[in-house]
Amino acid sequence: MTTDCLFCGIAAGTIPADLVHDDELVVAFRDIAPRAPTHIVLIPRRHIGSAAELTEDDGPMLGRLFAVAADLARSSGIADGGYRLVSNVGDRGGQTVDHLHIHLMGGRAFEWPPG
Ligand code: 5GP
Ligand code: ZN
Repeated sequence: MTTDCLFCGIAAGTIPADLVHDDELVVAFRDIAPRAPTHIVLIPRRHIGSAAELTEDDGPMLGRLFAVAADLARSSGIADGGYRLVSNVGDRGGQTVDHLHIHLMGGRAFEWPPG
């Protein structure tokens, strides 16, 4: 855990969040400022700065993360209509919290390419 990291704090339970999933590899919670009717943030429990820091050893965690995202999409009722999974990397990618996360967004249509 990185002590000054917001998402490490949520994973550790020291910072409150509306958790929707919690296991030994992955934690998921509702975004505090949702940009879609369903907007869930999925993170690895272990601190990883961004997708740019991933290695092949992270395969099991990533498999779990994407499987949990698919489960949450189904249980949220957005799976059939389609949804978006996105991970912002760095300043120009729009990353504001430096702990790897995937946004699961659904319940409305999205444009491509994003802004
Ligand atoms: P990023 O901009 O790095 O891709 O995504 C970070 C996300 O974390 C944003 O969508 C933002 O609304 C969300 N966020 C920031 N602070 C908090 C917080 O304290 N709690 C929750 N649940 N979400 C947060
Ligand atoms: Zn962290």
